[in-house]
Amino acid sequence: MPDFQEIYLDNSATTRPCPECILTMNRILTENYGNPSSLHSLGLKAEKEKIKVAKIIAGILKVKGDEIYFTSGGTEAINLAIKGIARRHKKRGNHIITSEIEHPAALYSCQALEKEGFCIDYLAVDAEGNISLEDLDAKIRKETILLSLMHVNNETGTIFPLEKAGALIKKKNPTTFFHVDAVQSFGKLPCRPSLWQADLLSISGHKIHGPKGIGALYIRGSVSIAPLFHGGGQEKEIRPGTENIAGIAGLGAAAAVCSKNNTDFYTQLEALKKKFVSGVLKNIPEAKLNSPPQGAPHIVNFSFRGARGEVLLHLLEKEGIFVSTGSACHSRRRDLSHVLLAMQVNESDIQSALRFSFSPYNTIAEIDFVVEKLTLYVKELRCM
Ligand code: PLP
Repeated sequence: MPDFQEIYLDNSATTRPCPECILTMNRILTENYGNPSSLHSLGLKAEKEKIKVAKIIAGILKVKGDEIYFTSGGTEAINLAIKGIARRHKKRGNHIITSEIEHPAALYSCQALEKEGFCIDYLAVDAEGNISLEDLDAKIRKETILLSLMHVNNETGTIFPLEKAGALIKKKNPTTFFHVDAVQSFGKLPCRPSLWQADLLSISGHKIHGPKGIGALYIRGSVSIAPLFHGGGQEKEIRPGTENIAGIAGLGAAAAVCSKNNTDFYTQLEALKKKFVSGVLKNIPEAKLNSPPQGAPHIVNFSFRGARGEVLLHLLEKEGIFVSTGSACHSRRRDLSHVLLAMQVNESDIQSALRFSFSPYNTIAEIDFVVEKLTLYVKELRCM
């Protein structure tokens, strides 16, 4: 059996920065440390780097470079999109629609807006974690100002039908804005705001082998939003604060790698997932797949009946295998996954759930090793 030092299958929590990202950030921190607002050449050089990366991201999304606004990550982009639209357009209506299984950045932004007088409808999901378009249709009102949906769910890999949802909302109430949380899909699956009729879209650097603490929000040209912060007027006053040029450059380098290897990465992720799912289902009778078969190629959620997810996680860790019991952003909290609860998964299956999330840099040999160890430990825990 190969001697692995570390098998990292927690890529939905965060990813290891790719060499291109590290080299670029090193170069920028050493040579291009100017403030983009400065009038001298170092300032201009930094500004040029920012514009270059905005164009890379815009190229992937098929939008314009000046529609990209850099933020401190996915959480800030989502807060800015949801609160920014709600506060700017509240005179037109106070109704927002989202789903029950959004990331806490979206859910808690909506909860905060409820305290400001907004009325939020949370779309329920089925056993595969998907929303119903009939339900969305029924919830759209003339006061609806925003629909916010994720593209890929971070715990199960469920893919929401964004093209249909966007078409429905724009047909029924054309003045409603549509925000997409593409943090788990950008760089992995095609993300097309124009196809989805999305006005805003959030992404994050550290999910695509880029750095932490950097993200971006796409805002369609004519859409006006209220800023969260006030300051020096950077990013057209929508997101003031001196730009994190090294982070922006690292994000650009990582995004360029994803874009260049687009098809190969997708094929590799699909192969890893297929091998893993078939291996687990064949060898572990106690395994119950919580992810939909047609979900994203990089996220799989299983319950291992009779074993506690947390115990299993630490046993795997002893073998150098890193996985997650749920969403990493809040998985240190012991409460039950709101995503699996919304999918009507029972409490004991939620407690025995583990999420495995792949990167194109994982190998089939690693997957075989993980399946072998999982089989062993699930059996051991089952007999205790
Ligand atoms: N949205 C989704 C779907 C996520 O999975 C995450 C992080 O896990 C975020 C938003 C938050 O992104 P960030 O960690 O960059 O703040």
